[in-house]
Amino acid sequence: MSDPSISKRPLIDNFGRTVKYLRISVTDRCDFRCTYCMAENMTFLPKKEILQLEEIAELARIFVNRGVKKLRLTGGEPLVRRDIMKLFEQLNHLHDVGLEELTVTTNGSQLRKHAADLVANGIKRINVSLDTRDAGKFAEITRWGRLSQVLDGIDAALDAGLKIKINMVALRGENDHEIVPMMEWAHEKGMDLTLIETMPMGAVDVERADQYLPLSEVRETLSNQFTLRDDHHKTGGPARYVRVEETGGRLGMITPLTHNFCEGCNRVRMTATGELYLCLGQDDKVSLRDLLRNEGPEAVDKMLDHAMDIKPKGHDFVIDRNVPQKSVGRHMSVTGG
Ligand code: SAM
Ligand code: SF4
Repeated sequence: MSDPSISKRPLIDNFGRTVKYLRISVTDRCDFRCTYCMAENMTFLPKKEILQLEEIAELARIFVNRGVKKLRLTGGEPLVRRDIMKLFEQLNHLHDVGLEELTVTTNGSQLRKHAADLVANGIKRINVSLDTRDAGKFAEITRWGRLSQVLDGIDAALDAGLKIKINMVALRGENDHEIVPMMEWAHEKGMDLTLIETMPMGAVDVERADQYLPLSEVRETLSNQFTLRDDHHKTGGPARYVRVEETGGRLGMITPLTHNFCEGCNRVRMTATGELYLCLGQDDKVSLRDLLRNEGPEAVDKMLDHAMDIKPKGHDFVIDRNVPQKSVGRHMSVTGG
């Protein structure tokens, strides 16, 4: 039930953009250590600072009441958080009060265990991150992951009826030669593939300039081999899509560096401790956890107006050996991808 004491004003920022999409990092912890995402030795948030599942559900309800239509759980690895299905169960009820889509981004390691429950809790589509289908390379990139477990998880999710979009971070010299086979494999299995440019977030043990592969370059190479037609498919996220005539499948590209998409930004991100970041690439934020605990939902609702006032125009990520790197200090696993 929506709380009648809370207003239903939409979330509109100072640039006239309406926020309809909330991504929630339910944990910053993960069973993998992908080289572009985390350092091998990470310090995680103290458990006592993490929001309870009920608090996450309560905060999500406030956002839905303010016009948010899409919720994505992410992390860290969302499916490693204990009792996570209880949260999905609670969030599923928000479909009765205006939520249109509940979804998740996962590394796939726990999908075999959770696929059927995700479907039972109203999830229809999920994103699974997979940068390579070469077992040795997979172990190298994820440091701790096992490819066979993820592939098995993907099969379990497809069998359970979930639609899957594979997210692949394009890494020069590491998986660029796998883009075409990955696309053919994904399309063959009825899955979309989205390529992502690596973003300068948090200190990692690799040189980002070595890994960075501009997708403008990839698109040019692909169009020598395939017929790519612009596709106006919208998922509420930042990807732009093309339809690949030869495979019949859809290919998305997320290009924060080569093609800034901030003018159409419709989203905000909440960390596992209830910090609401207004932009993935900036530090502007408001804290919601203590407000909720000490003052209640109305105070959170009011804070969202302030959040809209300070939402920045956009990020200014740069990865260029010759230009000082512009990045944010926190890792992607804190705010969620
Ligand atoms: N653990 C889950 C997963 O891997 O799907 C969810 C969280 S992960 C942070 C979300 C997405 O962010 C993944 O697709 C991952 O590849 C991507 N990602 C992480 N660090 C990134 C970076 N520095 N640049 C671009 N994408 C990144
Ligand atoms: Fe974990 Fe996802 Fe980051 Fe890989 S990308 S370390 S799976 S949070």
